[in-house]
Amino acid sequence: MMPDWKALGDEALEITRQYLRIDTTNPPGNETPAAEFLGGILQEAGFETTILESAAGRGNLVARLPGRARDASGALCLLHHLDVVPADPSEWSVDPFGAEIRDGYLWGRGAIDMKSMGVMQLMTMLSLAREKTALERDVVFVAVADEEAGGVMGAAWLTKHHPDLVACRDVINEGGYGLSETKPPMMACALSEKALLWIKLTARGTPGHASMPPDDRAISKLLAALGDLAAHPPALAISPLVERTFRALAAKAPAPRRKVIEAILSPKARPVLPMLSKKLPRYQRALLGNVISMTKLEAGYKENVVPGTASATIDCRLVPETDPEEFFANLSARMARFDVRCEVLFSDGPCGVSEGPLLPLLEQVCDESFPDTTFAPVLCPAFTDSRYFRQLGADAYGLIPVMLTNAEVATFHGIDERIPLDGLRKGCEVVYEITRRACG
Ligand SMILES: [Zn+2]
Repeated sequence: MMPDWKALGDEALEITRQYLRIDTTNPPGNETPAAEFLGGILQEAGFETTILESAAGRGNLVARLPGRARDASGALCLLHHLDVVPADPSEWSVDPFGAEIRDGYLWGRGAIDMKSMGVMQLMTMLSLAREKTALERDVVFVAVADEEAGGVMGAAWLTKHHPDLVACRDVINEGGYGLSETKPPMMACALSEKALLWIKLTARGTPGHASMPPDDRAISKLLAALGDLAAHPPALAISPLVERTFRALAAKAPAPRRKVIEAILSPKARPVLPMLSKKLPRYQRALLGNVISMTKLEAGYKENVVPGTASATIDCRLVPETDPEEFFANLSARMARFDVRCEVLFSDGPCGVSEGPLLPLLEQVCDESFPDTTFAPVLCPAFTDSRYFRQLGADAYGLIPVMLTNAEVATFHGIDERIPLDGLRKGCEVVYEITRRACG
């Protein structure tokens, strides 16, 4: 028995509107009311739900639909995060927490990132429960706190302290979505993401009076080191996963465009890659190898005192082929030449590439649901909670099955975040179809 998609879409829209009105801006997060809201809907449908707080107000919700196989570790996990990034109402055309419907969109912080996806997953749970036909595999619905601040109070905490509760084989999460304006249009499915590595650089020197500066100056050393980093950024490179994205697009692109893509991928193009990359939008350029961004600088406390220490923080995003430890060792050696010491502030370790049996199924369902769109595996430039589940041994796929224009994509983490109403409806069908087929 297939769900009544019209009725289910109406219900999804209403639930999403209520969900968007629950302010889970992180910081501080305060996700528990949102976890209770979704948990209440699941309970009404007969689910047993668990809400676990990592700290006061930081709720995480789990509900499991047991399968006939009675194998929790074989579950399909539908994962999303409850929190959202801040929104400044003075910059928005609508109240960011008003969940207004206007011009064919539902507006609000979290409309794309990623409360709507949470509701698509929720509707799948509700539909399956209403059908009362047990699937072979478990389906586990997981809604976590704190993704927008790195997941420490959410997915990291939950997978560390309650791994049995969230046991699964595959995860469907954020990280990729449909892009209607690429040529050809593509449904991006993230198989991996760049690893995060934060490093603090510290230079020490002789403190002293500014009127008689010492020879050994901390700020000068740090500046020389940072100047070297700025002048010689990591070499641009095309990772195997990025190459696959291009190849998937090339296969369906018209001939002239296909030739351009193939030219970019050819080893002969490597020397001109820096020049070619300047024509790419920032988010695409960010995928061409490792990236280092300088994010903090600290030195000095008084106008006429030469400080004894100066420090900077750099944010490094590493492609899956780079070993973070090796990267750090090389960077430390390079900075040592300037008498600057490196220390790791945060490292989430290498992030594997997920490519299990679910992948062809995702491609098949997306090809059927979005016929003129190319399904393309991608590397996600930013971190998501998928990495915590990959570390548990699960395959995680970033796939929000909604087609978006570039202008719509720019709204998440930006202003006027909104999702097309028909995209939300269709997304409910696609997530259901994937789950149904994956879990048999
Ligand atoms: Zn997100």
